[in-house]
Amino acid sequence: MGGNRLGRVGGVNVAVVGGGVAGLGAAVALARRGHSVTVFERDDTPMPQSADEAFDWDRRGAPQVRHSHAFLARLVRLLKSDYPDIYQQLLDEGATEMPFGVDLPPTMLDFERQPADDDLAMLACRRTTFEWVLRRAALGEGRVEFRTGIAITGLVAEAASDPPHVTGVRLADGTVSESDLVVVACGRRSALPDWLRGIGCTPTVDETDDTGIVYFSRFYRLRDRAAYPPRTGPIGGDLGYLKYGVFVGDNRTFSVTLATPTDDQELRTKLTDPEAFDRCARQLVATAPWLDGRAEPITESVHVMAGLINRWRQHVVDGQPLATGLIPIGDAVLCTNPLYGRGCATAFWGAHLMVAAIDAHPGDSRRMLITYDTALRAEIHPWYRASVEQDAEARRVAAALLAGEDPDGDASDQRRFMRGVFRDGLLPALRRDPVVMRAFFRSLNLLTAPDAMIKDSDVAARVLAVWQDRDNRAPEPALGPKRRADLLASIV
Ligand SMILES: Cc1cc2nc3c(=O)[nH]c(=O)nc-3n(C[C@H](O)[C@H](O)[C@H](O)COP(=O)(O)OP(=O)(O)OC[C@H]3O[C@@H](n4cnc5c(N)ncnc54)[C@H](O)[C@@H]3O)c2cc1C
Repeated sequence: MGGNRLGRVGGVNVAVVGGGVAGLGAAVALARRGHSVTVFERDDTPMPQSADEAFDWDRRGAPQVRHSHAFLARLVRLLKSDYPDIYQQLLDEGATEMPFGVDLPPTMLDFERQPADDDLAMLACRRTTFEWVLRRAALGEGRVEFRTGIAITGLVAEAASDPPHVTGVRLADGTVSESDLVVVACGRRSALPDWLRGIGCTPTVDETDDTGIVYFSRFYRLRDRAAYPPRTGPIGGDLGYLKYGVFVGDNRTFSVTLATPTDDQELRTKLTDPEAFDRCARQLVATAPWLDGRAEPITESVHVMAGLINRWRQHVVDGQPLATGLIPIGDAVLCTNPLYGRGCATAFWGAHLMVAAIDAHPGDSRRMLITYDTALRAEIHPWYRASVEQDAEARRVAAALLAGEDPDGDASDQRRFMRGVFRDGLLPALRRDPVVMRAFFRSLNLLTAPDAMIKDSDVAARVLAVWQDRDNRAPEPALGPKRRADLLASIV
C-alpha cells in the first residue's frame, strides 16, 4: 500500500488541493476524525472579518462565487445532522432557512405539513458567505492548516508502484509537500488528467457535455426599511430562449441570474450592460417585483460565466484505481449544469462518501478508492446523467426558437406530448396539488432519485389529470415575453 497509513486515528496527513466547498467539506470532516489536513488554495484570500468582506474576496480560481447559488435541502440536511454548529454559524452570520410549505401560492388550498417536510428546507445564502463560514469552521478545528496563494502544479508518486501511489504534491515553487493522502478538490478547471499523466497514468477521456448556456448574474441589497417581495409566486422561469431566477441571499441581499443559449450572441452582448440587465429583469414576471426600487445593486457590473459543462471523470476504470493515495472530489470529478443548483450539495455529499470510504478501509487505499467510486456512481452519478438528458432537450428547444421554428415539432413528435404535459400538466399541478409539489421539491433537492417522480404512479396520474383538463381552464400565465424579439426590443 505504499506507506499508506490512512484511517489510523491521529497522525495521518492529508493534503487537500483547493479550498472551495468540496475541499472545505473534506477538511472539516477529516479533521473531526482526527486527521491532520493542509489545504492548498491558489487564490490569495486572507480570512475576512465579515460576510460582506468575504463578498469582496478575489476568487478568480472559483469565479462562480459571484453568481447566484441555491443551497439545496440535501446539503442542509447533512449540515444539520452532522455539523449543527456550522449550520448555526451560517444562520448567525445572516443566512436564512427556507422551510418547505411556507410562501405557498394562493391556489394551493389543501396543504398539510408532514413530518418528512422538515427535511426539505433550503438555505438562502451568498456563496462567499457559505465558504467563509465553512473555512472559519475548518480553521477552528485546530488540525487544519490553510495555505493560501499557493498553486499545486502536479503530483509526486512512488517510482516502483503499479498503479502509481501518490505520496504528495508539487508546489509552484518546485518544492514537494508529502502526505498520506492527496484529496484533489480543485474544481471544474482542475488539471487532474495532466497531473495523472505526469506520474505515468493513462486517464480515460472525460465524459463532457456542453450545457448550452451562458450565465449572467447581478447582486442587490434591500434598501433600509424595504422588504423582500412576497414569495408566493414563481421565483424563476424558462422562456425557452432565456432562463432566469431570483435567489435570496444572506444579510438582506438577493441576486438575479439570467441564462441565455450559448449561440445567442445578440442577447449575450446586451445583457453584459448592467442597465440592460436590470431592464430585462423588470420584464420578467418573477424578477420584476424585486427590481421595483426596493433594492440597489451591490455588484456594479454583470458577472458573466461561459464554458459551463456537465462532466464525469473516471478515476476507477474497470474496477481498478488509476492511482492510489489520491482521491478526487467535488467538481474535479463530477460537475453539472449550475441551473439545477446541485454542485455544492454534490461536492459536500461527495466529501462525505469519501470519509465514509476512509473509515471503512483504514490503511487500504485501493479498497477505499473502489468503495468511494461505487458510492459515487450509485448516489451522485445519476444526477450527472439527469443533467445531460435535460440539457439535450433544452438545447434543442433553444435552437428551434432562435431559428424561429416551433420547438414542439409536429403532432406525431413524442417530445411535443412531453412538453405539453410539462407545461399544461406539471407546472399547474405544482401550484395546486401538494402531493405533486412535495414530490417535485424532493427531487429538485436531491432527496429522491432523479426518476422517482416519473416512477411514482400516484404523482404521474395527478399530473396527467391536470393536463387532460387543460382545455377547461385559462391558459397558464406567461412568465415573461413570449417572443424573444419583444424582449430584445424592450431592453435596448
Ligand atoms: C455559474 C455557476 C453557478 C452555480 N450555481 C450553483 C448553485 O446555485 N448551487 C450549487 O450548489 N452549486 C452551484 N454551482 C456549482 C458550485 O459552485 C460547484 O459545484 C462547487 O463550487 C464545487 O466545489 P469545488 O470545491 O469542487 O470547486 P470550487 O468551489 O470551484 O473550488 C475549487 C478551488 O480549487 C482552487 N484551485 C484550483 N486549482 C488549484 C491548484 N492547482 N492549486 C491550488 N488550488 C487550486 C480554486 O482556486 C478553487 O478555490 C454553480 C457553478 C457555476 C459555475
